[in-house]
Amino acid sequence: MKYDSISGIAGKYSAKILYDESIAEYTSFRIGGRCDVIVMPNSAECIAELVSECRKSRIRYYIFGKCTNVLISGEGLRGVVILIDGDYSSVRRDGNDLICDAGASLAKICNEARKESLSGLEFAYGIPGSAGGALYMNAGAYGGEMKDVVSWCDYLDESGEVKRMNAEDMMLSYRHSAFTGSDKVILSVCFRLTPGDENKIAELMNETMKKRRDKQPLEYPSAGSTFKRPDGYFAAKLIEDSGLKGYTVGGAQVSEKHSGFVINKGNASFDDVIKITEDIKEKVFADSGVMLEREILIVE
Ligand SMILES: Cc1cc2nc3c(=O)[nH]c(=O)nc-3n(C[C@H](O)[C@H](O)[C@H](O)COP(=O)(O)OP(=O)(O)OC[C@H]3O[C@@H](n4cnc5c(N)ncnc54)[C@H](O)[C@@H]3O)c2cc1C
Repeated sequence: MKYDSISGIAGKYSAKILYDESIAEYTSFRIGGRCDVIVMPNSAECIAELVSECRKSRIRYYIFGKCTNVLISGEGLRGVVILIDGDYSSVRRDGNDLICDAGASLAKICNEARKESLSGLEFAYGIPGSAGGALYMNAGAYGGEMKDVVSWCDYLDESGEVKRMNAEDMMLSYRHSAFTGSDKVILSVCFRLTPGDENKIAELMNETMKKRRDKQPLEYPSAGSTFKRPDGYFAAKLIEDSGLKGYTVGGAQVSEKHSGFVINKGNASFDDVIKITEDIKEKVFADSGVMLEREILIVE
């Protein structure tokens, strides 16, 4: 069978593997169809072997973390989905550094930083992604971004070799990194933090979380901010000014709580989200002359 070799690798490492499984429940948008194979690696070696086998056998593969910034096709994905998530997520302290497997959630990393009285990651508390996904996206919020705290990462390069990259070579800018659109796979991320006070760190994290709960439609599935922040503008304000708050296409809606979020009100399809984002772009451009660019990544 086409995926025997992938099953063999999953078996060798005792990694979870699913066949013909809907990916929707693994995504924050709760959208996405059945995928041929979803495998959840539990070590860097397992990731390396899976990727190497896919490359060698010309099997299409996809790398995801916690799937909180992606919109995946309702047709699902043909090939192998490698979900680098909770099964590969250890976090360890080395001096003032936290060295994290790519699948460690930012929630886990932030909690670890707080417990260890290490400051720097307070801004990231509440971003629902993984270390790998956050670095890939240079995720940021409330005046901070990964660029401020990442020191180095280990990654699998295009030829399957494990290499280390220092932050200055990562080309980190707004929602962009050296990994964007590349075939590199992030294996681990080192965050360089500074000693702080546990209570103060906790206070800042709680404040950040409160702001999120107050302002963002966290009660609905979404992929966070739908559009990037255009230079000199706020996407949410432009969308609201165009009268699109609450605008609905099928099960997708411009959140009434925060116009920067397209939410899944229930049974939204991939096509609903594509259509609503196209409509938003068109109307906002007509009204303001600003062309919005999607922040969410479309995978089909
Ligand atoms: C409610 C909500 C709030 C959010 N708030 C914020 C916010 O404040 N700021 C912000 O920046 N984002 C925010 N996001 C978006 C999202 O959480 C971040 O972009 C996050 O960093 C994505 O991480 P992930 O693990 O989910 O990545 P995924 O969505 O799984 O993947 C994103 C991209 O990264 C790539 N990738 C993932 N892991 C790896 C890896 N190990 N190696 C190579 N490539 C990899 C994938 O191929 C994909 O292209 C929010 C999302 C939601 C749902």
